[in-house]
Amino acid sequence: MADKRDYYEVLGVDKNASEADIKKAYRRVAKKYHPDTNPGDKEAEEKFKEAAEAYAVLSDEEKRRKYDQFGHAAFDPNAGGAGFGGFDFADMGDIFGDIFGDMFGGGSRQRQSNGPVKGANIKTTVRVSFEEAVFGTQTEIELPLKDECNVCHGTGAQPGHPPETCSKCGGKGQVVYTQQSLFGMARTVQTCPDCQGSGKIIKYKCSNCAGSGYVKSKKKIQIAVPAGIDNGQSIRIREKGEPGINGGGRGDLLVTVLVDRHPIFQRQEYDLYSTEPISFTQAALGGRVTLNTIDGPYEYDIKPGTQTNTKIKLKGKGVPTLRNKSVRGDHYVTLVVQVPDKLTEEQKSILNQYEKTTTVNARSSTDSAGGFSFGDHKKKKGFGKKL
Ligand SMILES: [Zn+2]
Ligand SMILES: [Zn+2]
Repeated sequence: MADKRDYYEVLGVDKNASEADIKKAYRRVAKKYHPDTNPGDKEAEEKFKEAAEAYAVLSDEEKRRKYDQFGHAAFDPNAGGAGFGGFDFADMGDIFGDIFGDMFGGGSRQRQSNGPVKGANIKTTVRVSFEEAVFGTQTEIELPLKDECNVCHGTGAQPGHPPETCSKCGGKGQVVYTQQSLFGMARTVQTCPDCQGSGKIIKYKCSNCAGSGYVKSKKKIQIAVPAGIDNGQSIRIREKGEPGINGGGRGDLLVTVLVDRHPIFQRQEYDLYSTEPISFTQAALGGRVTLNTIDGPYEYDIKPGTQTNTKIKLKGKGVPTLRNKSVRGDHYVTLVVQVPDKLTEEQKSILNQYEKTTTVNARSSTDSAGGFSFGDHKKKKGFGKKL
């Protein structure tokens, strides 16, 4: 024992190293000398053990204090006097759980299985129309939900034959294995294989639930779809998920809303977009047109000389916001001038007459025969005025 290296030296840290520094240093050294990466290398194995021992002491505040005071004598049973007892390798299992959760597969750490655990969330979808999403709706879905079995009250055991305490783990749900490893005794804790961690053995299963403790039945669930919800957004309905375990609360139901497309309106965030045809006479002369809005038909006066692709903003005619449904987005309507493709002889003659009266100016001289081209004019930005 006299030629034992200093623990700080082993890990390559100085005496004032923080807990995190020590952990980091140990991880580095242990990885370097791990037997898996150095098969058959005795020296690496020794270094690995040495590092594990150093870490076990320096990572423990109490042990580190004693080590700082007494050196190796603090843990050397042969040194006598100090009376702190030998170095206990039994702790190593826990240390590895901490440090090498990833490297060793983390099998030695088990969650305490007897405490209350909240039930899992359930996910489902609901389909609503475009208008329902805009204005909100109340809908109902049917879903198979688990409930505690009312015959065995969740125990899974036949009435009169209560579950027995598991003899393998004594009801703890976990078993501790101690085994010789290359650096001493290692202790691992595992879920009891007999009772799967419940601590109880059911000899006579409840016939109503086949021993599961739960029964599934179809339940009707009311869903309040809020105004303004968009395609793909979810609604959380509390406590409609899986039942909890050991007195834990139910999980939640997460309902993703799928919104049908609308034949006229497109939605972007809280704004709506649509296209409305207007006749070329209306475009030229102006006048009242009826626009489709999510609230219904809307009378709108267009200016004389309205060009095709003119955008109109209907303020507050969009989708209500989720936070406050009286605050709404806007509705943008694009007016598209329709050029008639069928004309009677009379109409043709009127248009020809019109054409003769117009002075064809330079700007529109590139237009094709007929002169009536509402087509590719520069987009006019001006939004129309509402009357
Ligand atoms: Zn039952
Ligand atoms: Zn057991």
